[in-house]
Amino acid sequence: MELNERQEKILKIVKQHGPITGSKIAEQLSLTRATLRPDLAILTMSGYLDARPRVGYFYTGKESEEVMSSKIRNIIVSDVQSVPILIKKDTSIYEAIVKMFLEDVGTLYAIDEDNGLAGVISRKDLLRGTMGGNDIEKTPVSVIMTRKPSITICYPNDLLIYAANQLIEKQIDSLPVVENHDGVERVIGRITKTNIARVFVNLME
Ligand code: ADP
Repeated sequence: MELNERQEKILKIVKQHGPITGSKIAEQLSLTRATLRPDLAILTMSGYLDARPRVGYFYTGKESEEVMSSKIRNIIVSDVQSVPILIKKDTSIYEAIVKMFLEDVGTLYAIDEDNGLAGVISRKDLLRGTMGGNDIEKTPVSVIMTRKPSITICYPNDLLIYAANQLIEKQIDSLPVVENHDGVERVIGRITKTNIARVFVNLME
């Protein structure tokens, strides 16, 4: 269930000042008690608030399963994506390793001449690249990267739950978030397991 703007405001007031009477809430919102009645009824019935006679409304701290799952289902990729770290596909393995350390990320995305997504480079790809006697200062990441069409991508408007499913199904750590520009897939973000863990922590808090 989606809360409307006024219900969100009421919830905030009760969280901060509860227990608080209906009239006091109305006063803070410069509304009449009667105007608030339907919103308070909805908030109470859906389990966000509890009311005690002569005490007032207080926040239950309990979000119903329904409330929680509808919140999760409404989150889209662009709400939580982070900044992607891009390198040219002819960057050397050595440079890519340095970049990964400097940027403190687990995945780099390689782009080609037209700035379109060309490949994904993970930590293990780089480790593999250092084995087998490669000259890592000369060998480009294009040799070791996962390339199109094997790259799993997502779009800014995709549901986060879809992206999370892809991470699990494909057993990968991140998805590039892309936007199509005249047939070129520009990487505009990334979704990682950390993004998703953060969403859960925020929801719990
Ligand atoms: P690591 O290899 O460090 O454990 P991942 O599990 O993310 O990190 O990567 C495993 C393999 O999957 C690597 O070869 C990597 O190139 C590839 N990979 C990572 N992300 C994607 C993606 N979004 N689409 C396709 N392949 C990917």
